[in-house]
Amino acid sequence: MSDSSDESLVRRTPWPETISRAVVTPLQPSVVYASPSPDRLDDQYEGRAKGYTYAREGHPNADVLAQKIDQMEGAQGGIITSSGMSAVSAVLMGVLQAGDHVVAGDQLYGRSLRMLTQDMPRFGVSATLADPTDISAMRAAMTPDTKMILVEVVSNPTLRVADMAGLAQLAQETGALLVVDNTFTTPRAFRPFEHGADIVIHSVTKLLAGHSDVTLGYAVAENAELQKKIYDTSVTFGFTPSPFDCWLAERGLYSFNLRYDRAEENAKALADHLASLPAVKRVLYPTRSDHPDHNRAGVLMGERGSHMVSFEIEGGRAAANALTLAAPNIAFAPTLGDIGTTLSHPASSSHRALTTEGRAALGISEGFFRVSVGVEDIEVLKAEFTTAIAATT
Ligand SMILES: *Cc1c(COP(=O)(O)O)cnc(C)c1O
Repeated sequence: MSDSSDESLVRRTPWPETISRAVVTPLQPSVVYASPSPDRLDDQYEGRAKGYTYAREGHPNADVLAQKIDQMEGAQGGIITSSGMSAVSAVLMGVLQAGDHVVAGDQLYGRSLRMLTQDMPRFGVSATLADPTDISAMRAAMTPDTKMILVEVVSNPTLRVADMAGLAQLAQETGALLVVDNTFTTPRAFRPFEHGADIVIHSVTKLLAGHSDVTLGYAVAENAELQKKIYDTSVTFGFTPSPFDCWLAERGLYSFNLRYDRAEENAKALADHLASLPAVKRVLYPTRSDHPDHNRAGVLMGERGSHMVSFEIEGGRAAANALTLAAPNIAFAPTLGDIGTTLSHPASSSHRALTTEGRAALGISEGFFRVSVGVEDIEVLKAEFTTAIAATT
């Protein structure tokens, strides 16, 4: 006996017809898309008609988000991936072959360093790390097999500023691709394609999405053939982003400029405030005149210094513990780019795998902290840091 009520439940009810349109981007979680016929499916696959087929290959929420970041970077055809690291993976695995060599900044995001030094070598791709603020060191690291130079403009956590003009020239002379992870600076402070980059990567997880509730990445190449390789690698390896994450990140982008400007204004003021406290040994912020790369920061980013501030206090681990315990409202968390201020301690998190000497060589002691400044009232922030730092002495 057939049960028609069951059948009507299983079949999808058509979306209600309406002459008005939703103002907000709809969330489209569908994995599969139905086409009218094999001929029309051919048209989709051959590029004669636009149509989605299967979410791993692309979906509307990822495309809407990618277009927005494309616009910010002055790019076209960028892709969204499931994390910043999958964007790095898609670029390295999509573009490089066994036998190729990469010259990379020596203070990249920790997992990027690990991928280059431990994981890519298993697939026949080698890397040499060098200081991107020193163009002669970067040049010396190049070999005839170097196909890529990978850098971050502002390094983590000491906020050194790469010699982008020198690197663009080096890439051009040698034919290597210049790849920029623009997560720290964001396109509001620095647009890599205007400075000779071939490929731009983002961890959208950070300031772009801005609310610490999604993990996403973005990658775009200026050259369409390269972009196709990056796209195909992402689809094949399965770096698919969740539609809901894309939807949330797109929502976050509407307030990006406001959040960025406020966070940066706060970061400048907080850096100056920290520098005025006697217990603070050193403050690092790119636009401050005591920053080692302050002139270069000015050339590359103008007045933009971004939202990250690092500082160092006297004392070892005990002082560091006292500081975080005395700042209960500032999340002590190894992340950045949240709408609220977060505090990280490289010696116990991002740089814990290094020896004490290795950290010392980078200028990272137990008293070294990195602040991702949020959009709070600056007077509240200053007071909280004053209290926290007073607790360390
Ligand atoms: C966080 C981060 C990444 C990795 O991004 P996930 O979204 O955490 O995978 C890569 N590069 C930089 C500079 C980052 O800050």
